[in-house]
Amino acid sequence: MQQNDPDITLITADAPVAANTHGGRAKCLQRLVRLDLPVPETIALSFDQVHRIAAGRVPDMAPILAPFADDQLLCVRPSSEDPDWGGPGAVLNIGMNGARLETLSERIGARAAARLYVKFIQSYSIHVARLDPDIFDDLDLNAPDAVVQVLDAYEDEAEEPFPQARGDQLIGVLRSMARAWEGTTARLLRTAKGAPADAGLGLVVQSMVLGVGQGECGSGVLQLVSSETGLPQVTGRYLSQSQGRDALQTGAAALFLERDDRGPSLEEQAPTAFEHLKEHAAVMRARLREEMQCEFAVDNGVVHILDGVRVQRTARAAVRIAVSLAKDGVIPREEAVMRIEPRALNELLHRQIDPNAERDGVGNGVAASPGAATGKIVFSAAEAQASAARGEACVLVRRETNPEDIRGMHAASAALTERGGITSHAAVIARGLGLPCVVGASSMRFQTRKKRLIGMDGRVFREGDVITVDGSNGQILAGEAPMVEAALDDAFQSLMTWADAVRDIDVRANADTPDDARTALNFNAQGIGLCRTEHMFFEADRLIAIREMILADTPEDRSAALAQLLPLQKSSIAELFRIMQGMPVCVRLFDPPLHEFLPTDRSGLRDLAEALNLPLSDVTRRVEALGEYNPMLGMRGVRLGITVPEIYEMQARAIFEAMLLARADGTPVLPEIMIPLVSAKREVELVKTRIDGIAAAVRTESGQNFDYRLGVMVETPRAALRAEDIAPHCDFFSFGTNDLTQMTYGLSRDDAGRFMSPYVQQGVFPEDPFHIMDREGVGELLKLGAERGRKARPELILSVCGEHGGSPESIAYCRELGMNYVSCSPFRVPVARLAAAQLAIQDKIA
Ligand code: PEP
Ligand code: MG
Repeated sequence: MQQNDPDITLITADAPVAANTHGGRAKCLQRLVRLDLPVPETIALSFDQVHRIAAGRVPDMAPILAPFADDQLLCVRPSSEDPDWGGPGAVLNIGMNGARLETLSERIGARAAARLYVKFIQSYSIHVARLDPDIFDDLDLNAPDAVVQVLDAYEDEAEEPFPQARGDQLIGVLRSMARAWEGTTARLLRTAKGAPADAGLGLVVQSMVLGVGQGECGSGVLQLVSSETGLPQVTGRYLSQSQGRDALQTGAAALFLERDDRGPSLEEQAPTAFEHLKEHAAVMRARLREEMQCEFAVDNGVVHILDGVRVQRTARAAVRIAVSLAKDGVIPREEAVMRIEPRALNELLHRQIDPNAERDGVGNGVAASPGAATGKIVFSAAEAQASAARGEACVLVRRETNPEDIRGMHAASAALTERGGITSHAAVIARGLGLPCVVGASSMRFQTRKKRLIGMDGRVFREGDVITVDGSNGQILAGEAPMVEAALDDAFQSLMTWADAVRDIDVRANADTPDDARTALNFNAQGIGLCRTEHMFFEADRLIAIREMILADTPEDRSAALAQLLPLQKSSIAELFRIMQGMPVCVRLFDPPLHEFLPTDRSGLRDLAEALNLPLSDVTRRVEALGEYNPMLGMRGVRLGITVPEIYEMQARAIFEAMLLARADGTPVLPEIMIPLVSAKREVELVKTRIDGIAAAVRTESGQNFDYRLGVMVETPRAALRAEDIAPHCDFFSFGTNDLTQMTYGLSRDDAGRFMSPYVQQGVFPEDPFHIMDREGVGELLKLGAERGRKARPELILSVCGEHGGSPESIAYCRELGMNYVSCSPFRVPVARLAAAQLAIQDKIA
């Protein structure tokens, strides 16, 4: 009997049906049957059976047809393992023929019966006989002899009569659907959706509920929540005298489901059917533990459930749905946490282009910082600031950004650069600010001097023209795009609270400014893991002081300039301490090459000469003297700390004095000081001795005692390899995976964007290693560094503060290595919290 043949089985409560052998639709129908819902009789054909049909082997039709009465019309629907992988379209009304036309005419009227037959012949011609759809173009399908016309057209083209036997029609349908699935186009389509190339297809053969006839008949779809927001809202359409998904296509003729001011509804037209439908949908939600869309048909007032699929949803709706299911006790909280893809939170944290909007794309680049914004094009930081002052949104367009552009980025709504990759300057700053940003958009031409930007299609954009930057997918669009707002609503907050309850690795934020710190706090970061102090010097008043310091001729001049910087640095750091309310704040000492702070063009040099009261030629010479062939591998990080020790001394004093200020205000702080770009233990010894000296001096001057933690960034391969030597001088290591990736590959983080696409496309790198951490190479250095560091000092605190700190894959690895925390841009903190929670839950389950 069918029940024992898993390849052709009637779907009953205990039939051998599984998603990985018969597909998701068949499995779902079985669940609906188990819930005693009114599901029409259905036969499921397994992947193996369908594969054999595609190969030309005609199945034994007896068991397929056995459950159905001889005159019962049938439909066939695809059943792929994951419903998102799609499949060939359903074919309805199999079994329509001349004899059925007559009997049905009596039951539902001649016109309605003829319409069904005509539709079936057309669908069979196109999908099964593969005839050209044009053959019906000139026919009058509403004419009384439409059936004859359509049959003639079929017979002329196919050179054979239209098959009349239901079994023959069904074989044709099964074969064509099975073959369509195995064709190249279908394979490409489903692999693009993540299906394996050899994914199987099941088919379900179901009794037709006509949806056409006397009394209230029709069809439609219903779900209990909005796909956009996830909030409760009966959503869908119903169309009287219709089949399949007609109700969704017909627009105006379709009814609303619930009573609605905009037009008539099923609730008014057939209240009992509507009530039953809602009850069935509620049972599906509770028992399938998911918001489902049900496809239904009404036959003479009686509701039948034809199918159920997971409600399509935006990320925002996904969060609301998961949280509501947990709050209603349908799923446990931990399952709700597991149901949300961490990266999908980006959609909630930022404004996005409306997913239903048309997109007028003019260029692509690296999606460097998520969210989208529209604004008028400006080509310099100064113009961005002027634009902000006028209250106009602008997009800062630069070939690449330098520290001076930070002010422009603060003023802009979005940033776009020609060069750069995921960890280049603009990308890092933009993520910190939560500013939508696309970098490495070399598909467009940047003529910044002429103040022109040329799109891929040759369209020219000038200063003041409006564009939209989609930092979530790297696209640039002409004009203004409709947006949907960020959604940090109560559902999001609940989900994050549940995530934090199970998480076992801390998440801190990389934050340099009070604004960053406030964002970090808002997102419940557990401290600051990296404060890049150099970013505190980009305000106009500070830039001059730091330039004076850099160009100072004598130690006295340098001390004088540093004395100006000390109070500024101190107050900025004190504010961070206060905002973070006693949570750890790790302050990194000055890292970038000094000349990054110097002007690059003539007018900037002239301004500087004026400010310093020096001849232009003198300033130009000194700036040139600071130039380096390879600044990222030159005089930066701890190398500056060793050769110009006054800078670090000033910074250490600023940190200690800021700590005392915060303490005086009632915020107890244990400051953490981090030395960048270390590669040798002697560097740490030298810097530590000086910082200890400053700490001692501040203790004496203030009469107060305090502790502090000193650590290093492990961001050169040598620091990782020699971790055992370095660790005894440190309280913590923080792996700077941006520089570590750059140096492990010998790959400039600012130039990688240029060739990363072909490299990834040709499989040289599986992913952009600045984006997804390279476990094999960079990861090996992390492992060595962690093991060797802890061998020398078991209590060593370990973390990652490179951009990878916010990516779910890296967090998994950091947990494996026993790290204490990860630190990432403030806007990535929620993603990291959720990813970390999911890893902990997975471990619990395993
Ligand atoms: C790093 O190199 O990973 C890092 C965090 O520092 P920065 O990006 O400032 O070089
Ligand atoms: Mg670094």
